[in-house]
Amino acid sequence: AAKASGRNTLRFFDPTMQKTAADYASLASCLHQAVEEQQLELHYQIQVDATGRAVGAEALLRWHRPNKGLVSPAIFIPVAEQSNLIVELGNWALETACQRLVAWSEDPVLSDLTLAVNISARQFREPEFTTQVLGILASTQAPPHRLKLELTESLLIGDTQDTIHKMHVLKDHGIAFSLDDFGTGYSSLSYLRQLPLNQLKIDRSFVNQAGQNSADAAIIETILALARTFGLETIAEGVENEEQRAFLAELGCDAYQGYLFGRPLPEAAFVQLVHQYAAPTGCHATVLEPIN
Ligand code: C2E
Ligand code: MG
Ligand code: MG
Ligand code: MG
Repeated sequence: AAKASGRNTLRFFDPTMQKTAADYASLASCLHQAVEEQQLELHYQIQVDATGRAVGAEALLRWHRPNKGLVSPAIFIPVAEQSNLIVELGNWALETACQRLVAWSEDPVLSDLTLAVNISARQFREPEFTTQVLGILASTQAPPHRLKLELTESLLIGDTQDTIHKMHVLKDHGIAFSLDDFGTGYSSLSYLRQLPLNQLKIDRSFVNQAGQNSADAAIIETILALARTFGLETIAEGVENEEQRAFLAELGCDAYQGYLFGRPLPEAAFVQLVHQYAAPTGCHATVLEPIN
């Protein structure tokens, strides 16, 4: 018992844990300034359809922390979600994305792209959420039917009526919804039936081993069948190689996102990539465009 308690005491004073707590607090306070001091940036990752044509992008937050380099959203989003900071970050991302949509509508190569923005459950739960989204659409004049919001299944453990209501309000304005990381969370079939979703986004953990692992392959088949039943589009995330793409294509997945097509890129590089995809000499366009 003494040994166990000794171990507990030791654990309690573990300097690495103390460092973690201090890091966390300092991260939160620095993140506060990040918005005002323009340390945040959106990167864009291309999404393609089954013919290899660029159809959209996902906006992914990046934080350039002074003297510390790029901090991953996998680290700072959970910190922001502990407070209302996520609302500020979320609105900044949404507004920036909407401004890009307006700029892209001037370029025929980019004007048909949809842009997906990640929405945290805490941000969505705000009573003001729909008002904020519609306010940003109005002030930026962004085309609502090009905007897609990515929700996660964690949202579904909250107030379902609130979720359905807010989604309908936004859908009535032309905004689309994708259920991100699908297959890893809490979705029940009855929720799927009730929510006005447009797309299921297959989590990358299933895509990863899809060609080799029969359980993952079965999960993907099930998700695609489910999507067909509910009339939803499908997109796979984390597609890294041709084997994975071919496997998903065989099963009838509608769209693809992953390093195979492009990493998340700063805007200028993203725009260049989409132009490459659209170029008539581009291998994607000529080889994969269906011939009727
Ligand atoms: P997510 O929404 O599921 O985004 C996909 C993540 O997978 C991104 O990580 C992306 O860079 C990464 N990814 C894309 N293709 C591949 C691939 O082929 N292989 C591998 N291994 N990874 C790939 P990232 O950018 O680090 O973002 C992590 C998470 O942070 C996102 O996961 C999302 O949950 C969250 N996040 C990012 N931006 C925002 C935002 O503006 N708001 C909110 N609430 N969350 C955000
Ligand atoms: Mg996402
Ligand atoms: Mg995802
Ligand atoms: Mg994910």
